Amino acid sequence: MRRPLLTINLQKISANTRTVIDQCRQKNISLTAITKCISGMPDIAEAFVAKGAMAIGDSRIQNFAHFEKIHCDKWLIRIPMISEAADVVRYTTHSLNSELATMQALNEAAHRADRIHKVLLMCDVGDLREGYVDIDGFLWDAEKAHNLSNLQIAGIATNLCCVSGVLPSLETYERLYQFDQAYTRAFGNATHYVSGGATSSYPMFLDGTLPEFVNNLRIGELLLFGEDTSNHRAYEGLYQDAFTLEGEIMELKEKPSLPVGEIGLDAYGNRPTFIDRGIRKRAILAFGRQDVGVEYLEPLDKDIEVVAASSDHTVLDVTDCTTDYRVGDVIPFRANYQAVLHLTTSAYVEKIIL
Ligand SMILES: *Cc1c(COP(=O)(O)O)cnc(C)c1O
Repeated sequence: MRRPLLTINLQKISANTRTVIDQCRQKNISLTAITKCISGMPDIAEAFVAKGAMAIGDSRIQNFAHFEKIHCDKWLIRIPMISEAADVVRYTTHSLNSELATMQALNEAAHRADRIHKVLLMCDVGDLREGYVDIDGFLWDAEKAHNLSNLQIAGIATNLCCVSGVLPSLETYERLYQFDQAYTRAFGNATHYVSGGATSSYPMFLDGTLPEFVNNLRIGELLLFGEDTSNHRAYEGLYQDAFTLEGEIMELKEKPSLPVGEIGLDAYGNRPTFIDRGIRKRAILAFGRQDVGVEYLEPLDKDIEVVAASSDHTVLDVTDCTTDYRVGDVIPFRANYQAVLHLTTSAYVEKIIL
């Protein structure tokens, strides 16, 4: 087996998905399971759907090409570029949108493909990433989009806790409610999606404060990692350890903890500082920042300390370990969301699904 190796425990992800979906069903919330963190790995997308996810969502259109054999709704959750309109119509059923020009391009592409493409209109209720901020502008575009022959408006959506870290709250949902009221006045009270957020909305969902007009969540992190980093919470009953990165020791030597010579800038432009701790046993693993931000890895052996990393090397201090490591040994780490995002993107990382 080539290393670095990312092992993925599909049973744990499936169990998380089943648990969360059962909770959602009790509150009549449909779940769009998000695959962007795992670069759209089709086996995981399939497991999401097998456990009851109504739709798969991803941010990159390329990933949907791997989902063609999976039968479910497919949501492009990054607002589309005009230049990808034809692929959006071809590979997805729904997309989140905030620009009329893009919706017109989607309509033309859908017309050419003889399809109906469904859109959810993004409402920006505070995080200041994508979406309409004022209701008049929202309604203006919505009316125009509504009249396009091959487009169907399927509801509204919002996203929180991304570029500004704004947490979902009763106030943010009050703003979404204003959009929903306007939507209903314009288009009638027919069933439509109110897609109210992502993993960061799960705390409100759990404690019963998520307003009832929200009827869909788009969730990735919670299913994959059983946690919500925006709230620093790991959830009981969900697995947090489905992803493990294994690195291999290619050098193991005792070295001083103070570098020898004048200190300039390291490989990333930082000036590192050091404490003299005497001679330490250091292991070098064969992966580095090209593969993963090492600060997002947690050694399973708690006595290991990550000392430094460059593009292709990660240096560990293994002096305090009870295990007597040797060159060639494998060191496992728990990988979190940011780690897995990079690891699944790297062509140098071998991936295996257990
Ligand atoms: C990433 C993303 C999600 C899913 O977020 P998680 O934190 O993984 O649950 C949902 N919606 C949009 C628009 C996103 O960009």
